[in-house]
Amino acid sequence: MKIICIGLNYRKHAMEIGRPLPEEPVVFLKPDSSILKNNKPFFLPGFSAMIHYEVEIVVKISKLGKGISAKYAHRYYDEVTLGIDITARDIQNRNSASGLPWELSKCFDGAAPIGKFVAVSSVRNMNNINFRLEINDRIVQQGNTSDMIFSINEIIAYISKYFTLKTGDLIFTGTPSGVGPLKKNDNLVAYLEDEPLLDFMVK
Ligand code: ZN
Repeated sequence: MKIICIGLNYRKHAMEIGRPLPEEPVVFLKPDSSILKNNKPFFLPGFSAMIHYEVEIVVKISKLGKGISAKYAHRYYDEVTLGIDITARDIQNRNSASGLPWELSKCFDGAAPIGKFVAVSSVRNMNNINFRLEINDRIVQQGNTSDMIFSINEIIAYISKYFTLKTGDLIFTGTPSGVGPLKKNDNLVAYLEDEPLLDFMVK
């Protein structure tokens, strides 16, 4: 399976990290070895001094598709959860400045914690879901899918022009503003509306 991630999909987040708003979705991939499941702890890697959290809505592809139109994209995912696009911001900034790829900053082991999936059918409106991240019981990020620059269906239409989507593939749909650093012993809890779906420690 593959993990497809969208960068800069919320205006305020693009502003906070000083990047222009994208005219087309910004796409990158993470390998399956970056997945962290079952609320296992995340271990801070020794190669970065600035590991950031980014809470994101994650959808799971439920059938094979290529060249999917936005109108039919809702038929291609049936489960949703929250994930953290963990980013070594120091490495990302360094590589971006010299035009190098982002892989070393976003694809390392454990860089994609994901929560418990829930059925899309149990969500009232995918285009108007509140989600948030709390660290040590303090809210650090809050978002609503209505603020996305590119909606979930538009993302699926766009990426399926380039990649065949397969059952089980995951899409990280971008982070709202409020990203920041992680430190040892932080406890991250991510909520879809008021349901906690992800809860893990930083070690
Ligand atoms: Zn992200």
